[in-house]
Amino acid sequence: MRRTSCSACGSAHLEQILDLGNSPIADAYAASPVESLRLDRYPLQLAVCDKCWLVQLLEVLPQEQLFGTGYSFYTSASPPLSQYHEVYASKVMESYSALARRSTVEIGCNDGDLLRHFHEQGCPSLGIDPAVGPVKAARERGLDVRTRPFTLTYAQDLFYEYGTVGLVIANHVLAHVADVSDFLAGVSLILDDDGVALIEVQYLPDLLVNNAFDLVYHEHRNFFSLTSLEAALERHGLFVTNFIHTDRQGGSIRIEVRKRHYHAPGITMLRNHENWLHTMGAYEGLQGRVDRIRTRLRELVHEERSKGSVVGYGAPAKATTLLNFCHIFELPCTVDTTVAKQNRYIPGTTTKIVAPEEVGDQETFLLLAWNYMSKIVRDHSEGRWIVPIPAPVIL
Ligand SMILES: [Zn+2]
Repeated sequence: MRRTSCSACGSAHLEQILDLGNSPIADAYAASPVESLRLDRYPLQLAVCDKCWLVQLLEVLPQEQLFGTGYSFYTSASPPLSQYHEVYASKVMESYSALARRSTVEIGCNDGDLLRHFHEQGCPSLGIDPAVGPVKAARERGLDVRTRPFTLTYAQDLFYEYGTVGLVIANHVLAHVADVSDFLAGVSLILDDDGVALIEVQYLPDLLVNNAFDLVYHEHRNFFSLTSLEAALERHGLFVTNFIHTDRQGGSIRIEVRKRHYHAPGITMLRNHENWLHTMGAYEGLQGRVDRIRTRLRELVHEERSKGSVVGYGAPAKATTLLNFCHIFELPCTVDTTVAKQNRYIPGTTTKIVAPEEVGDQETFLLLAWNYMSKIVRDHSEGRWIVPIPAPVIL
């Protein structure tokens, strides 16, 4: 279904800013090359709302198709993400222990890799997530998790069952919802008047500055700046009272949200830094830069291939966007440590996902998991690396 109004403010003025053609669902890892090539493709186009400046995907695929039984992303399968969650939980317990001990709800808890830390410390905790497989894994850890997408309607059920809660956590989930306004109305309903919601989202300016177009795939429906997120929150009586910038997913912001105004140092400065986002000029060059990345990346892969083989490194969802948009369909394989992905194929390509030990160290690698560049390149110093983002180069 093609979106005709803004997910946050309802305005009908959506201006298309990027067209990545048609792409399969990014993490529908296929069992065979034929299945992979025959996967259905859907338009991948970004638009910006010229009223609230929320950047959003125009094609909205059904929730069940994206996050149902086939959803294969398990947070605990990623060691760096598990470490991130451990540090995150200890920081939250330092700052919000009393609220967390009152009650903690995590929306989009996946397999409970973060929520378990609160459960283990005795906080009454509840997870909500529509992805069947990850929720099953979370329950096997002893966590109380509901298999539901979070909506205002579901928040009403929770409210009748539990009342309000002290701490709401929603990390990298707001990007996935089809109706931002409905989701935030639900958060406002279940949050205690003195409670805190911690929301982490990918940070749009980082995407724009780094040309990180491969972060665009069907599961990512919304891309936020601080100001577009604040505008969406304030419609529901929620206010950003603090923030930090993190390096997760190519650059993210973690915000603290309360039901009252409080101007933490730095918020006004960040708001002012985002003024450039509030004219169409901020978005006009994106398509041209992305098209040039495609041309240059294809040239580099071609040149390296004339000297030897080129294989991928990493099989994140964003690799599906990058390889399909750049028409790089035939890398023989890509290395990934996630066992559940191994022996499957990057959607839309004949690229098989293999364990690291199946590939030598002296290949030329196309770095598909570029957000872990420093660690990966340090651990594999023998290889040659084609780094695609922010502009294709060889290391
Ligand atoms: Zn809007």
